[in-house]
Amino acid sequence: MSDCLFCRIVAGEVPATVVAETERTVAFRDVAPQAPTHVLVVPRDHHAHAAACAAPDPGLLADLLVAAADVARAEGLEGGYRLLTNTGPDAGQTVHHLHVHVLGGRALGALG
Ligand code: 5GP
Ligand code: ZN
Repeated sequence: MSDCLFCRIVAGEVPATVVAETERTVAFRDVAPQAPTHVLVVPRDHHAHAAACAAPDPGLLADLLVAAADVARAEGLEGGYRLLTNTGPDAGQTVHHLHVHVLGGRALGALG
């Protein structure tokens, strides 16, 4: 999708600080980090959010979680970290290409 920001990052058309890549995923630093480590893990294929990916390609959701765990290990987040994926307007999803936030490097507090 040429008008999708994260498709354009995956394609290398928009610059990003890429920290890891697999056959099916790309991980890059969030431009506005909410924690000392804030990485986004996205599929190369376009899906609007996790629910839209679940039926056509459930294995891709597993690939994203494995890639996120690898990022967390590489970032040294032994103390723990949070994986988050927003779905839809009430969750505040702003980029409509499935992404998993990897947040860590400080105590994150309870979800409110
Ligand atoms: P959402 O709110 O949709 O779950 O998260 C979207 C995330 O994408 C936000 O944390 C935001 O800071 C990040 N973001 C938005 N535009 C860009 C960009 O151009 N580059 C990078 N690396 N991150 C972005
Ligand atoms: Zn996309």
